[in-house]
Amino acid sequence: MLTLLMMAFGGSLALKAFEERQFADNSTLIQQAREAEALSGHVRAELIGLQARMEGLLITGASLEAIRRGAQFDAVSERAPPEGAWAQLVDEGGVRVFAEWKGRWVQGVRATAALMPEALDERHFYLVSSGSIPLNARFESVDFERSAVACAAVRGTEIAACVFRPAPMFGLGDINRLVIYGLLLAAPLLAVFGLVSVIRRLNREKAEAEALAPTPAAAEQRLWTSFEAAGVIGLWRWNPATQLLTIGPEAAMLVGATRDGEMTLDEFTTIVAEEDRRRVRQAFEEARPRQQFNVSFMGSGAMAGRYFEIIGGESETIFSGAILNVSDRIQAQTRSRRAEALARTALDAHPGPFAVWNNHKRLTHWNAAFGREFNLDRSVLQAGASYDLVMSEIAKFVRVERPLGEDANSREMLLISDVWIRLVDRRTATDGLITVGLDITNMKRQETVLQRSERRLRAMVEELQRTKGQAQELAEKYAEAKTRAERASQAKGAFLGNMSHELRTPLTHINGFAEMIASEIYGPLGNERYKEYAEDIVGAGKHLEEMINDILDMSKVEAGKMRLSPALIDPEDAVDGAIKLARRRAADREVALVFDPDDDLPEITGDHRAIKQMTFNLITNAIKFTDPGGEIVVTMVVEGKWLVIRVRDTGIGIAPEDLPRLAQPFEQVTSPEAKERNVRGTGLGLALTKSFAEMHGGYLTIESTLGVGTTVSIFLPVTRTPAPATGKPAPVLADA
Ligand code: ADP
Repeated sequence: MLTLLMMAFGGSLALKAFEERQFADNSTLIQQAREAEALSGHVRAELIGLQARMEGLLITGASLEAIRRGAQFDAVSERAPPEGAWAQLVDEGGVRVFAEWKGRWVQGVRATAALMPEALDERHFYLVSSGSIPLNARFESVDFERSAVACAAVRGTEIAACVFRPAPMFGLGDINRLVIYGLLLAAPLLAVFGLVSVIRRLNREKAEAEALAPTPAAAEQRLWTSFEAAGVIGLWRWNPATQLLTIGPEAAMLVGATRDGEMTLDEFTTIVAEEDRRRVRQAFEEARPRQQFNVSFMGSGAMAGRYFEIIGGESETIFSGAILNVSDRIQAQTRSRRAEALARTALDAHPGPFAVWNNHKRLTHWNAAFGREFNLDRSVLQAGASYDLVMSEIAKFVRVERPLGEDANSREMLLISDVWIRLVDRRTATDGLITVGLDITNMKRQETVLQRSERRLRAMVEELQRTKGQAQELAEKYAEAKTRAERASQAKGAFLGNMSHELRTPLTHINGFAEMIASEIYGPLGNERYKEYAEDIVGAGKHLEEMINDILDMSKVEAGKMRLSPALIDPEDAVDGAIKLARRRAADREVALVFDPDDDLPEITGDHRAIKQMTFNLITNAIKFTDPGGEIVVTMVVEGKWLVIRVRDTGIGIAPEDLPRLAQPFEQVTSPEAKERNVRGTGLGLALTKSFAEMHGGYLTIESTLGVGTTVSIFLPVTRTPAPATGKPAPVLADA
């Protein structure tokens, strides 16, 4: 059957190969015919070209030799063609071409090879007379060598162009095909043979194995023995009828029994931990036929902490089985339970939400905070709940959510409960997911406070910068104004100084001459009136001189150029000098002028002239502003470290609002009464007095009551007269 099948398969393969071969041959012939056509076209073009060149040369009347060279013929002769043919094949492997001009016929012979294109492969081109051969493509065999030949007529001539190409019966393509089909045929055969031999071998091996294999019981025995030898298992037998238990030597060793063999349950259970004894005993006593026997217990004594399992079943009223040491398993279970408990404690100890998802994104563990913080219902929060479901439930309780930086797995959310949670998802090694949340409400609050205070600070800084700018602007303006004012003041000072000086010189003359006139030095004046006028001039001139002196002094003070000439002086002398000067004026105004200095006034360091002038200024003011009948009292007292020169009058007084302005250059009281009495004042007297007092290291005070009187006091520092020098160094006081 298999052979038949293979034969049919082989046959069909052979047919297929033959068909392919036919197809390849046909293709060769078609290509050959096309090539012959192309070759004939080429030859015709060459021949027409030759004829045209010949004709051209004939027209010019060229010699035969010139035609031969010009058209590159091998030979040329004058000859007419045979009937109708303009190109003919010559026997010697050449072609002749004919041309005519005005009855002159010429023939040129050219070698066939020169007309053919170059054949680059094993093809061969040649020309034949078209009448001598069939003009189709075919295979030809000569001495078992097959070749493909095709010819095509060169139009308008009796020449045919042929292409020849060797086409062996068995080419490379044929060998390829042979190999492929051979393999195709061989493959299934090989497969079948392979299969058969494998099956045979397996059968053989099975038979051998069966011959050598021990009985199942023996194998089991071997297994037991190996387990027993390893101290992992021991055997037991329980006879309910006698209530006796038999344990093998390995079982005894395993559980730490003192002996093996038959024993009562009481004896056996001594190796069982107290708490498990009752259970083990019960298991044996209540062993049921056809039921699995299974009880586990902890060992006692040396075996405490080890766990054993007794398993087995019933066979013909006797129960038997094995005792296993399952300590490893139980310990592993305990460990895993403990680890689990630890993990749970850790989970619950984490203050924020915490959840664990398995690799299918199903909830496996979570802590109380997870449900609490996200307000998750028990129906949602169940083992196996999908991540997406839980997250969509959480989303309902979220007011604001935003990703945390670049990390797509971290986000911050503000819950409806006003709690901020930072939630992070992390992959576990087992491709699960851990979701950890942290309450960051406090942090957020601080952040807000911080942001707020930062904003405030920034505003303050901006405001500060703005006011700083303004302040700077003001300072610049002020500096500018100050410079301007200083410059103006300097100019004014300089002007006043110059002017006073310029005025004084002519004034001295005026005064001098007026005095001479008034005193009638060079004889009496004709009229009494002249004398009066001259006296008026003297008075006015004096006043003017005083004023100019004041102005000059003031400008010196302001320019800081006023210099005192301090010396140890008796101040009473200076004040007395001023009194004397003023007496006349006081008398003229009918004002009493009383000088009442204390006794034993000290000497002071001061400028005699300045003190005299200060006092004089104050007294003249007092006279000016005191009505006739009034009184001026000048006192001198020592108060503490000050010598006080006081000028008190019973004049018109000064209004309190005017007081602060006085004692500054050019400041005057503007009341009508004051004005009326002060027609000739300049507002310099008090200012100068104050400046002089200060230059002495002292000061000036004005006390006044409107309509009652005024008291102006000059305070000058008292310099203690140093003790007369003894020439001996001061004794050094030794410390006790
Ligand atoms: P003046 O040359 O104008 O007197 P002062 O500086 O001496 O300049 O005085 C300034 C102003 O103070 C006076 O114009 C006057 O109004 C007021 N004054 C000064 N002394 C007295 C005084 N004893 N009684 C009342 N007013 C006075």
